[in-house]
Amino acid sequence: MPTNKVYFVSLNDEEPAASQAEKTCRLFDATGFGEQLTANDITAIKTHFGEAGNLGFVKPPCLKAIVDKVKAAGGAPFLAETSTLYNGRRKNAIDHILLAREHGFTPESTGAPIIICDGLIGRNELEIKIKGKHYQKVSLAADIISSQALVAVSHMTGHMASGFGAAIKNLGMGCASRKGKMKQHSDIKPTVDQDKCTACGVCVRWCPVDDAIKLGAKAEINHTVCIGCGECLAVCHFDAVQFSWGEANKILQEKMAEHALGVVQNKENKVLFYNYLNHLTKDCDCMETPKEGPILPNVGILASTDPVAIDQASVDLIKSKTGEDLVGKAYPEVECEHQLAHGEKIGLGSRKYELIAI
Ligand code: SF4
Ligand code: SF4
Repeated sequence: MPTNKVYFVSLNDEEPAASQAEKTCRLFDATGFGEQLTANDITAIKTHFGEAGNLGFVKPPCLKAIVDKVKAAGGAPFLAETSTLYNGRRKNAIDHILLAREHGFTPESTGAPIIICDGLIGRNELEIKIKGKHYQKVSLAADIISSQALVAVSHMTGHMASGFGAAIKNLGMGCASRKGKMKQHSDIKPTVDQDKCTACGVCVRWCPVDDAIKLGAKAEINHTVCIGCGECLAVCHFDAVQFSWGEANKILQEKMAEHALGVVQNKENKVLFYNYLNHLTKDCDCMETPKEGPILPNVGILASTDPVAIDQASVDLIKSKTGEDLVGKAYPEVECEHQLAHGEKIGLGSRKYELIAI
């Protein structure tokens, strides 16, 4: 099976969900993934149901298209997700499934049940041995590791820490258990600019650690208990929370790629990646209230069996189709291609690819 072919269909700005679903099916067939499945392969379709108030996620008809294709190939699909570190509607399995339902993800609409793969509160994990620069073992959601096959469905967005989020981030961060997510964030320790802080309290509401942020006349972060999850940076609408990234964003990208390696390494020839390059926003779909809408026009949908190749192709396609650079526009200070370089270095995939328009 080819490992670095990337298949592509274009999308216009008004593309209806039914048309996106039909294109999703065509991509599935082009990759040959269905032929790799054997009878009853339990197949995790890893996606993101969107935070409350954020509708940037890949829509249920596209997930249904993949579910139907996996079933037709003999597999047993389910929609897979993990809980978040921070306080939101996705912090535990119960609230997460209810929110997914509000966003239209039900067994009736998609043909598959939802399983929150790291358990009720993010502790259902397996440690997987890898050969990385930072880790010899990584902590991942047990039910994703226990699945025989994986389809990672990623909506590409900008991301303040990694520059952009797509397949590597969906695997590395999105499939990590709570412990795995904490380990990846451990180098981030933000501070609050007292002049900019309005004491609105939003960061306190989202912070997962009791007493990490003290709110008096202004907010203040206690670095002895802060776990560096970065949520306060993401949710502050006044740019009051600051962090000097220095090498930290590169280290986070390396750690993310190493967790991604742990996810795929026991699923040889049984992984497929979709990147949706539509509704391209500066902030990721974890933001409760996006600070702004799309910053670039829709580009298309990509599919590949190589997570590095599909992310590299996504970055390149956005530049060639829109004449602009998503990350350059959103987070010019972040060297986002570092995740691709490190992914290739540790054997996660290849930055060289063949783009095939269908
Ligand atoms: S969200 Fe920003 S402005 Fe609001 S309290 Fe926190 S640091 Fe201050
Ligand atoms: S203070 Fe620390 S633990 Fe709390 S949201 Fe910010 S980075 Fe996360």
